[in-house]
Amino acid sequence: MIKVIMVINSGSSSIKFAMFEHASLTVEYSGEINNIAKDPVFIVSDKKHAVIFKKSITSGYASAFDSLFTWTENSTATFSIMAVGHRIVHGGRFYQAPTIISKEVIANLKTLIPMAPFHQPQNLEAVAIIAKSYPDMLQIACFDTSFHHTQIKLATLFAIPRVLTQEGIFRYGFHGISYEYIASVLPEHIGDKAKGNVIVAHIGNGASMCAMHLQKSVATSMGFTALDGLMMGTRCGNIDPGVLLYLLQEKKYTFEQLQKLLYEQSGLLGVSNLSNDVLELEQSKSPEAAEALELFCFKAARELGSLVTILGGCDAIVFTAGIGENSASVRQGICKWLGWLGVTLNHKANISNQIIISRSNAKILVAVIPTNEDYVIAKHTKTLSTYT
Ligand code: ADP
Repeated sequence: MIKVIMVINSGSSSIKFAMFEHASLTVEYSGEINNIAKDPVFIVSDKKHAVIFKKSITSGYASAFDSLFTWTENSTATFSIMAVGHRIVHGGRFYQAPTIISKEVIANLKTLIPMAPFHQPQNLEAVAIIAKSYPDMLQIACFDTSFHHTQIKLATLFAIPRVLTQEGIFRYGFHGISYEYIASVLPEHIGDKAKGNVIVAHIGNGASMCAMHLQKSVATSMGFTALDGLMMGTRCGNIDPGVLLYLLQEKKYTFEQLQKLLYEQSGLLGVSNLSNDVLELEQSKSPEAAEALELFCFKAARELGSLVTILGGCDAIVFTAGIGENSASVRQGICKWLGWLGVTLNHKANISNQIIISRSNAKILVAVIPTNEDYVIAKHTKTLSTYT
C-alpha cells in the first residue's frame, strides 16, 4: 500500500494530477485529462514519464474525475490517498497561506469567481466532485495569490477612489505557487544573488513577472485578475481602459463579448490571427505571427523595466514555465531590449536551455529554472494534513 498525496490542477480545458509518495514527496504517478469539453483522453504516466494508461472518455469534469477515481481504485498498485491538494487561483483577501477546505472556505472562494471566471469555477468544481465521492477526504487549497501578500503597498494600489480599494479592488497578483517554488530553489542555482533583486518571468500560456527581494514578492505584473501585465497566449495584458469604454459604447460589445475578447481572443492568438502556441508561431512564415512574437517580447521587456525600477536594480533574471523554459528565441527577444541594463546572453547556453544563459562577465545573471507547482502544493498539503 503506497501512501500518497494527490495534487490536482483543474483548469478550463484540462485536469492535471500528480500522486506524491507521502514520506519522500517524490512523484509516483502523474497524468492529465485534456480537452475536457470534447473527446477527452485520460492519460497516466509512471515516475519515469512512461505512459502506462490511456483511455478516451466522455466529456465533462464528472466523467474526468470518475475515470481518475476508477483508475486509482483499480490500479495494480494500491494507494492510500492521505489528502488532496488543489491549485486554487484566487484566495482574495481571505487567505494568505494554504488552508484546509471547509464549507466556509468554499463559500468564500465562490465570491471570487468574477475575478477569475475561467479558473476559479473549475478549481472549485474539482473540490466539489471529490467531496461528493469521498466525503471524509481531507482537501487543502493552495492559492496563486498568497505569495504576493508581501508586496509593497504602492504596488497593490490602483489609482481609483479609496472606497473601491477598501472593498478589495486592488492588485493581488497570481502564479504565486510557481514563484514560491522558484524562490525556494534560487540559492542552489544563483547562489548569493538569490537574496538580492531578482525578477522572475513565469511565461506560459498565462504569463507574469514577479520582482523579488530576499526571495519575497515586492511587486508583480498581474493585478486584480489574471488579465493584467504581460501579453499572453490569449489575453492582451495591460491595455488602455479607454479601449474597453470605446468597445462598450461605440461597438456595443456585451459583457460576454468583452470577457471573451480579453480572456480568449487576444494576446498571441489575436495579434497573429493564427495561434496562441509559441511553437506554432515560431514555425510559421506569416508576418503577423512574427509580429505577435515581437510584441510579446517587447511588452515583457517593458514590464521588466518597470519592475527593475521598483526594486532599485536587478541582480538576476529567471525564466520559467512552458515558454520561459523552452523558447530560446523568446528569451533572446526579451533580453535584446535589456542590453542597457547589463544583460548579455551566451547564445550557445540559451539555445541549449542551460540553467545559466548569461555570459560569464555579464552584469546581470540570467537563468532558466523549471518550475514545479505540484511539489509546492504536495508539500503544503503534507504539512497541513500532519496537523489534523
Ligand atoms: P500553462 O499556462 O497552460 O500552464 P505552459 O506553461 O504549459 O502553459 O506553456 C505553454 C506554452 O509553452 C505554449 O505557448 C507552448 O507553445 C510553449 N512551449 C512549450 N514547449 C515549447 C518549446 N519547446 N518551444 C517553444 N515554446 C514551447
